[in-house]
Amino acid sequence: MKKLLIIHTGGTFGMLPIEPSKTLAPADIQKYILTYLPEIVEIAQIDFEVAFNIDSSNIQIHHWQKLAQIITEKYNAYDGFVIIHGTDAMVYTASALSFILQGLSKPVILTGSQRPLAQIRSDARSNLISSLELATYHIPEVSIFFGRLLFRGNRTLKISSTHYDAFASPNYPPLAEVGLDITLTKNILPPGKALNYREKFDSRVFSFHFHPGLAPEYLNCILASQLKAVVIDALGAGNMSIYENSLIPWIRKMTDTGRIVVISSQSPYGRVNLDLYKSGELAQKAGGISCHDMTLPAAIVKLMFLLGQHPNDPQKIATLLSQPIAGEIAP
Ligand code: ASP
Repeated sequence: MKKLLIIHTGGTFGMLPIEPSKTLAPADIQKYILTYLPEIVEIAQIDFEVAFNIDSSNIQIHHWQKLAQIITEKYNAYDGFVIIHGTDAMVYTASALSFILQGLSKPVILTGSQRPLAQIRSDARSNLISSLELATYHIPEVSIFFGRLLFRGNRTLKISSTHYDAFASPNYPPLAEVGLDITLTKNILPPGKALNYREKFDSRVFSFHFHPGLAPEYLNCILASQLKAVVIDALGAGNMSIYENSLIPWIRKMTDTGRIVVISSQSPYGRVNLDLYKSGELAQKAGGISCHDMTLPAAIVKLMFLLGQHPNDPQKIATLLSQPIAGEIAP
């Protein structure tokens, strides 16, 4: 029988219906899960660990590091890891873990639920059971299971705050589908040779949404700040105003002062193409870099990670940004 570790981090999954704000004591999590899902012991030999117990909107870099440390320390003792996590920040944690835990040869699956496990008609039951089953398969990467699909974690977006199919990976096909049978696809990363743990991050990253009417003078506070990288979530293929309220001079000032400016797209499907329009051409000339087909959360976390790994080397970060670390961007 395979050995799996469930790591609990909080979120709706473990909330008590009567006292939703009350957090369970670490020992109670195991009891709670086994009370509602006694059958999981048939899937594998399962141990439990509580890393922390918070709503995922409170997640910080040190929480990612703690999770990665737990997995690294227990890596040889288990065949797979299932992380119970709040849905709100799940894609950020999945992206961070995919960058920290390079060279995985075992599954690390994040899941959660829209309804607490203890409530009737909860999606927590099927999400956890399927994640545990999937963790017994050969899926050597950080993924997210929700609803009926397994996604590459760093390609995923939370697309609904109410639906049970709450996640999607618009620019990468699912890794597996759970129906009557479990069907693995050919989209899974090959296994790594050895786990290569790198945990340094630099949080000096900021992102903002471009919209018509945005006046560049409001962005001067970014120029005056300690921020090292900015992601402009732009329109369509990566477009923004270049006539009235042009952002191009601001991008130039940012890159001239050694900061990185990345351009992503508000359109979840497709990719940024800075060669398509005048706006992209000027943004590139000013030193802007394309996010290609990366999700905005993956781009933000990747910048934090690359800044942590290569402090004071914006050139290197710009080069590495467009190269895949864990399948987050098309090669
Ligand atoms: N706010 C919760 C969280 O992200 C939502 C959830 O778990 O679904 O922790």
